Amino acid sequence: MKSINVVVGISLFGLIAVGLTSLLSSDLIRLFNAYRPVLLTGGGEQCISSLRERGVKFRILGNQGSDICPVMNAVRVEGFKNIVASSPFVLSCPTALKLTNWLQDAQVKSFSHMGTVNCRKMRGSGFLSEHSFGTAIDISMLDGAVVKTDWGKKTEKGRRLLDAAGLACKHFSNVLTPNTNRAHHDHFHFDNGIGLNC
Ligand SMILES: [Zn+2]
Repeated sequence: MKSINVVVGISLFGLIAVGLTSLLSSDLIRLFNAYRPVLLTGGGEQCISSLRERGVKFRILGNQGSDICPVMNAVRVEGFKNIVASSPFVLSCPTALKLTNWLQDAQVKSFSHMGTVNCRKMRGSGFLSEHSFGTAIDISMLDGAVVKTDWGKKTEKGRRLLDAAGLACKHFSNVLTPNTNRAHHDHFHFDNGIGLNC
């Protein structure tokens, strides 16, 4: 009888613990998704001037997006001084500035990207991705070095990617590479959200 009580007790405790954990995590996700936009800053006029000083060609779009996924002080980047991008893209000004600083720091001559703004949750989680706020970019190639095929190789291209990803940690709070998980096997993800990975 005593052992049955112990088993029932442990099972109940387990059920309560699982219930509490899922309640806490769903509340945490809700809180994060509701308050992450409050922490966004667009950098104002000063950010726009800094982009101009660096020779970036861009159009000012102002505040964009929705209540859930606002993009503050958005700019459509159409070109850089001495750097070729695969296509124009939209970012919140502070992220466009960080990207420009990284490109110049890493002496990148050309790069391909897989997108910037996208109001969506992170793969495999309920948290909104930084792409939701225009504060993230996915890079698939730089100076002919392709993340999908050259990452992890002891070649010039492999080292180029490794060095550039390392330098990105100076500029972004999150830098995800193929080492992070399968979802990033073919690109770098850079963002300036709440940092955990740099
Ligand atoms: Zn990404």
